[in-house]
Amino acid sequence: MISFLDLHKINLRFEEEFKNKFTDFLDTGYYILGSNVTVFEEEFASYCGTNYCIGVGNGLDALRLILEGYKVLGKLSNNDEVLVASNAYIATILAIKQAGLTPVLVASEDDTFNFNLNELSNSITSKTRAIMPVHLYGQLSPMDAINEIAAKNNLLVIEDAAQAHGAKNTKGQVAGNLGDAAGFSFYPTKNLGALGDAGAITTNDKELALVIEKLRNYGSSTKYINEYVGFNSRLDDIQAAFLRIKLPFLDADNNRRREIAKQYLSAINNPKIKLPSYNENETHVFHQFVIQVLNRKEFTNYLIQNEIEFLIHYPIPPHQQEALTEYSGLYFPITEKIHREVVSIPINTMLSSTEVKKIISVLNSY
Ligand SMILES: *Cc1c(COP(=O)(O)O)cnc(C)c1O
Repeated sequence: MISFLDLHKINLRFEEEFKNKFTDFLDTGYYILGSNVTVFEEEFASYCGTNYCIGVGNGLDALRLILEGYKVLGKLSNNDEVLVASNAYIATILAIKQAGLTPVLVASEDDTFNFNLNELSNSITSKTRAIMPVHLYGQLSPMDAINEIAAKNNLLVIEDAAQAHGAKNTKGQVAGNLGDAAGFSFYPTKNLGALGDAGAITTNDKELALVIEKLRNYGSSTKYINEYVGFNSRLDDIQAAFLRIKLPFLDADNNRRREIAKQYLSAINNPKIKLPSYNENETHVFHQFVIQVLNRKEFTNYLIQNEIEFLIHYPIPPHQQEALTEYSGLYFPITEKIHREVVSIPINTMLSSTEVKKIISVLNSY
């Protein structure tokens, strides 16, 4: 059986260091917003090339706190419209809703799984205040075009970079530094994953960073002095310690993912399988390798017979989710096609070259 993602194996190579760190951590007796958080924030900001990083509880909170921060600063207010891709993971949409704003779903393209740029422009109304591009599956959204549209219409650009740690554009700028602010998740399965929930915000906006630093901690920077109606969403110090151990290996891990992706792209040549397309001048970090097949049930049964694990990212588009019935009347043909046809095949640093070869040969024999 080729497993989709063996987290135990992924983290095994760090186990000794994790144990040592944990022993140090026990010795300090200091668990919340300790020095590991502060140092990780500096290290991750530096990795992304931004001036600021604020560690928070998870990716959903990271996205929400950016929006809440802009509300405190008066740059967003209730019921403002925020544009988001109709095939995004539901978290992006929930963050907008939870912040009291209105998500406006925009049609996507099935080659890149990103915004259709014409549709993006056409979706702007007098109430639109922000665009939230998701770098889905590890591929950057077309940020130059998005930033241009945003500049023309005076909109904020907030990246959902939860699947794109380390993805770079042609100028070498890294995800998290391609808009006004970005939200990251360090959920264990992400390219940079903690051993529990964790997230962060990156930005070059000093005012925003200062507000979010308080918002994540009850709206307070001095104990028992509360400036805003804040939240409790702090990055755990022990998770920050684990992330500090893993961050130096992120680029090498992303390179390995890209190597596997290149092997898949050059060797899989089955007309029944549509391969993902990407701009080779940018650094796709292949959080997922997502193919499309017309008869998905038949294909996934075939994978099961051949002992290759797979996942579906994602089976139901947001506008058809029970949680979002206000969108149930909408129709996004391309998005619906994406959700009917996508299959994620294994791609991670622990796949052996024998396993990669087996996957290629099984797919070519389908
Ligand atoms: C994982 C993910 C999130 C949410 O992250 P959590 O840490 O699970 O809250 C948000 N957006 C995208 C695109 C994701 O993949």
